[in-house]
Amino acid sequence: MNFCSHCGQTVRFAIPEGDDRPRYLCDACGTIHYQNPRIVAGTLPVIGSKVLLCRRAISPRKGFWTLPAGYMENAETTVEAAARETREEACAEVAIHGLYTMINLPHINQVYMMFRADLEGGFDAGPESLEVALFEEHEIPWDELAFPTIERTLRHFYQDRRDGVYPLHISDITAEDRERYFGSA
Ligand SMILES: [Zn+2]
Repeated sequence: MNFCSHCGQTVRFAIPEGDDRPRYLCDACGTIHYQNPRIVAGTLPVIGSKVLLCRRAISPRKGFWTLPAGYMENAETTVEAAARETREEACAEVAIHGLYTMINLPHINQVYMMFRADLEGGFDAGPESLEVALFEEHEIPWDELAFPTIERTLRHFYQDRRDGVYPLHISDITAEDRERYFGSA
């Protein structure tokens, strides 16, 4: 950030009085520009024994497969965001169950919140998807998944499906985890 989004003057990066970390400060109008993690909300849509995946038409990771997910918008709930992303990327309606994986990515300031869902009706590729398809477990393109959060969510799902219970899984993906993931992809 170079300029204040409130008054347009130049900002500086420094620790505000009484704070413990640097922020973008505007001396002209006094605004402190706090920056906080972004939530990525999405679904794991299931129909029968199959899971719906989307092949990304956009960067990053264009051409790789993902579960429908994206940044939450202001004024919506996490469930609404997950349903909207599913509609946008897969042209699909879902009945959302509970929160299933919550994954912190502190090095890129994101939190993933993935919900289990039942696919209701048809699907098609939205503008951000090259194609959308249903996969049996043995058909999952493990080496062509877009993000480690997606791989982890799917691995939990198939393990839990064998066990017959779907608890909430909270975990972290570190910078090292990411390096390993993208290094081997
Ligand atoms: Zn300002």
